[in-house]
Amino acid sequence: MSEHSHQVKELMGQAEHALDAVQAILDSVLANLKSRTQKGGQVSAAKIDDYQLIAYDAALSSAEASAARFMLDYATKVRVETGNTSKTLNLEDSLALFFCAEAIHSIRARLSARPDDFGISQTELTAKLESESVRGFCNSQLATQNIAALGKAVCELNGQVGAYLLDDHHQMMQDTFRRVANEVVMPLAKEIHQKDLIIPDAILEQVKELGCFGLSIPERFGGLQSDEQEDNMGMIVVTEELSRGSLGAAGSLITRPEILSRALLKGGTEEQKQQWLPKLAVGEILCAVAVTEPNYGSDVAAMRLKATKTEGGWLLNGAKTWCTFGGKAGVLLVLARTNPDLSLGHRGLSMFLAEKPTYDGHAFEYKQEGGGKLSGKAIATIGYRGMHSFEMFFDNFFVPDENLLGGPEGLGKGFYFTMAGFSGGRIQTAARAIGLMQVAFERAVSYAKDRLVFGKPIADYQLTQVKLARMAAYLAASRQFTYAVGRLMDTGKGDMEASMVKLFTCKTAEWLTREALQIHGGMGYAEETPVSRYFVDARVLSIFEGAEETLALKVIAPALVKNARDN
Ligand SMILES: Cc1cc2nc3c(=O)[nH]c(=O)nc-3n(C[C@H](O)[C@H](O)[C@H](O)COP(=O)(O)OP(=O)(O)OC[C@H]3O[C@@H](n4cnc5c(N)ncnc54)[C@H](O)[C@@H]3O)c2cc1C
Repeated sequence: MSEHSHQVKELMGQAEHALDAVQAILDSVLANLKSRTQKGGQVSAAKIDDYQLIAYDAALSSAEASAARFMLDYATKVRVETGNTSKTLNLEDSLALFFCAEAIHSIRARLSARPDDFGISQTELTAKLESESVRGFCNSQLATQNIAALGKAVCELNGQVGAYLLDDHHQMMQDTFRRVANEVVMPLAKEIHQKDLIIPDAILEQVKELGCFGLSIPERFGGLQSDEQEDNMGMIVVTEELSRGSLGAAGSLITRPEILSRALLKGGTEEQKQQWLPKLAVGEILCAVAVTEPNYGSDVAAMRLKATKTEGGWLLNGAKTWCTFGGKAGVLLVLARTNPDLSLGHRGLSMFLAEKPTYDGHAFEYKQEGGGKLSGKAIATIGYRGMHSFEMFFDNFFVPDENLLGGPEGLGKGFYFTMAGFSGGRIQTAARAIGLMQVAFERAVSYAKDRLVFGKPIADYQLTQVKLARMAAYLAASRQFTYAVGRLMDTGKGDMEASMVKLFTCKTAEWLTREALQIHGGMGYAEETPVSRYFVDARVLSIFEGAEETLALKVIAPALVKNARDN
């Protein structure tokens, strides 16, 4: 073994050891939270609410620790795949080691702010996270010189942050959709944003032609997915590339068919699958998701829109809001209360496929022959433009029996079908965040190299190099974390991890696009500069597909606590 590979091995070993120490502390935190939030042998959601800050921080810290672990695995894989025995660290090694130190530092800061509340002693914290080896590893990785050198190195790569490690099939998908993003989406994205236009056919037809709407639909129903196994990686790679072109005008097109097809595959009758999936797969019918209501968003189980039985079907009455693409869509996935007994909570909800004509404008009104009405009005937003998100009113809107998801068996199961759809939406949203970060990072690097301030390019200043290094490390970690969870989901697991990766990447995208804008100075704030759009677009990622607080408190923390050891 060469001296160098010894050195790499040693550094990787130090990082592994430091992450083990972090995990040991997080295990203590979770075990402690478990002992405080159990009721009758079960983890109680109400009791977790008594410890919201601790639960949120534990969820976020666990997400960071997982991302760090996946980064180390990734760096090792790159080394193996490239057979690299050179004398210097790979870029991927350097990014992984630096990201580990950043993650440890941030978790340590969080825990040491209030160890008592986390149920850990200062002695334990010091012994684990302030040990000579952990401190030594972090100090060397976080040294200014190390970070600035990394920043200089990434600056030379024109926005690339290391190998993607895709197989040939996914590499080909990436190449195809990068071309679509560069040649079709990017030239139109600015105008769509500035004029708040609906996505034009030039983009829609490309996306349809390339089969994007069928990415999560099995081949037997006309989609691109193998009948044997899910291929989340395909969906992730395509989403990432389209979002690099534009979040609102391309990258989010796949979210809706992703949610709807997962809900259909989970709960639809065979006839419903046969009827809807082939049409959705080829984009013959576009869809939208109408779950959120004016009074209920995060609390999905509390939705109120009423579905009343009538001859041959159901009458929908009430309001939905934020229904993205609701005008253009030919079918809406509507969550409605089929049982008026509110004490049933989520068990009173069912899912409907409500058909309607498609509209391009910012408002529409559709009257059914029988007198039912559906009206919609787009909500003006700061970003995420191209699809239009509608508030909608259903007035005795008729939906036939055959459009109740799952048929009579599906009555009362709408909440579960919604959740099945949302887990796909979450990993897809992580991929959207990566695409957005990638393009913001590319612009930041390019501007930093071109812009002269006080006589030299801003990329030559230490502070800019540090910024770029951190952006690169967080971007690479977000990507590899998302890929790892996508692969896990291919095996039928990973629902909680999908929430974790969504929480982490979306928060990261908000910060990273802010940094990209900041590097542009005043020009970053100009509407004509794309980074101003990336910044406002990124802001929505932590709100929809499960707001970050809801994911942390209602999905991630309860799952982690449930699996924690008993104290
Ligand atoms: C641009 C855009 C597009 C969207 N597209 C769609 C769509 O296509 N279909 C659809 O159905 N919905 C869509 N949504 C809605 C989105 O899913 C909701 O906004 C989201 O679920 C949050 O719900 P809310 O807005 O009602 O916030 P609320 O539920 O009112 O929450 C407000 C704040 O309180 C926090 N919070 C919630 N619970 C707790 C708690 N227990 N403790 C502490 N804090 C808490 C939340 O995290 C949030 O920060 C979209 C939203 C936006 C902005």
